[in-house]
Amino acid sequence: MRKRLIVGNWKLHKTASEAVAFVYRLSALAQAADDVEVVLAPPFTALQATAQAELPAFPFALGAQNLFWEDRGAFTGEISAPMLKELGCRYVILGHSERRRIFGEQDEEINKKVQAALRHGLRPILCIGETLTEREAGQTDRIVTQQLLRGLDGVAGKSLVGVAIAYEPVWAIGTGQAASADQATAVHRTLRKVMTERWNSREAEPVRILYGGSVTPENARQFLAAPEIDGALVGGACLDPQSFATILASAQAQQG
Ligand code: PEP
Repeated sequence: MRKRLIVGNWKLHKTASEAVAFVYRLSALAQAADDVEVVLAPPFTALQATAQAELPAFPFALGAQNLFWEDRGAFTGEISAPMLKELGCRYVILGHSERRRIFGEQDEEINKKVQAALRHGLRPILCIGETLTEREAGQTDRIVTQQLLRGLDGVAGKSLVGVAIAYEPVWAIGTGQAASADQATAVHRTLRKVMTERWNSREAEPVRILYGGSVTPENARQFLAAPEIDGALVGGACLDPQSFATILASAQAQQG
């Protein structure tokens, strides 16, 4: 069985000192569980402080929200995979819809980032998802398949185990209008099938497919109860320690 993965994407929130306060509070509220992996993805400037605040009773993995595909060079304002590795990052969120929409990232660039992450032993969390217009036009499967295959272009089957996919319908992100568990399940099945056909079932099987888009303490359980949904990528609701702890408890409750 795939280990559940719950990722908190802090986006552009929390300074380093706020991150430390958050980790201490979350550690007091949340239970550690062997069968649920927790990732905190603060802004770059809070990565180190977040890592240093970790308490033994509540282990989590550190994730970054982006990277640049070159290791070093004249790329003002960018951050590379080796820099993230040295800070203790294990994961990196790539291709988030905000990066695609606001910063114009295309599948080809996202693919270079995925390759760079894997080259340096970072686990990419590749975000994909359709817009409302695309869903209403019946294009959901086509769009997510295209984003998946382009994002993972050139990735060897043996490297897939280090990849997670986050299905995040654009219309559900930050809107309070989550997909239904049935809608998410249907897309997750498509994604699993596409990966199985492109690689093979042995290599596709361990890839975790997360749902993201207005996950809250109230609705988390319905997603995490579905066998096709291996975890959640949480934005707004991860900023409050109590809300995030409740979502983690929902994931843990599904394991028993
Ligand atoms: C996200 O940031 O990936 C996200 C899903 O945000 P929210 O949970 O706020 O919709």
